[in-house]
Amino acid sequence: MTALVTGASRGIGRAIAVAFAERGHDVAVNYASGADSARETVKLCEARGVRAVAFACDVSRYAACQEMVGKAEEALGGVDILVNNAGITRDGLLMRMSEERFDEVYSVNLKSVYNLSRLVVAGMMKKRWGRVISLSSVAGLYGNAGQVNYSAMKAAVIGFTKSLAKEVGSRGITVNAIAPGFIETDMTAALPEKAREEALARIALGRFGQAEEVAKTAAFLASDDAAYITGHTIEVSGGISL
Ligand code: NAD
Repeated sequence: MTALVTGASRGIGRAIAVAFAERGHDVAVNYASGADSARETVKLCEARGVRAVAFACDVSRYAACQEMVGKAEEALGGVDILVNNAGITRDGLLMRMSEERFDEVYSVNLKSVYNLSRLVVAGMMKKRWGRVISLSSVAGLYGNAGQVNYSAMKAAVIGFTKSLAKEVGSRGITVNAIAPGFIETDMTAALPEKAREEALARIALGRFGQAEEVAKTAAFLASDDAAYITGHTIEVSGGISL
């Protein structure tokens, strides 16, 4: 099997790429910037005995995605598993949020999911097997002050997931989402200490999550063990909503 993981140069995306490599999947490692970091992900995958290739592409642009999918198919022979992981935050209260910051989060966090799903699903249909896994967030499930843009897109990812699951289920393709809570990556490292403390107080397990813990959930959803799960969102949050 071949997996395409977007935003795999670091954080959760890198951990997913490595978890897939550990399970014997070839990996197309997408990144927008940070070529050295993407090369490091490739090396980590190759060290596990699979083929891995890095592809620079801004996933918010359809034409660029089309080019990347073409190259990935040429290099690795098709995309069986798509992980829509690339994501950004542009936080701020609605009253101060510029149109640009809203549109940016829309393009990277939601439009990209349309772009890539649209481009790879035809190949999966032909093979009558496929996996589409998209990263949502607890912000999409429960909301978060200061993140109307981010939580709107993460909620939309869940709607997209449910609808696409209904469209392609009869072709052996499952479509699921993962809603992480507070995972220790560069994205959350940027948060102020007060926000980190407040988040920690709400987590039943009393600790932040690790990227590898989200990756294991992605690996499960991609496996045949999850063949009868579709249209679902798995929360990986240490019980932040309890
Ligand atoms: P991160 O910021 O560490 O990594 C994001 C990755 O996406 C990077 O590799 C970045 O280069 C890439 N990216 C950004 N814009 C891109 C674009 N236009 N095209 C291609 N790649 C692009 O973030 P992370 O914490 O690893 O988050 C990964 C995913 O998980 C995101 O969708 C995020 O919203 C989601 N998530 C994270 C957390 C968390 O606590 N870290 C919680 C809930 C959901």
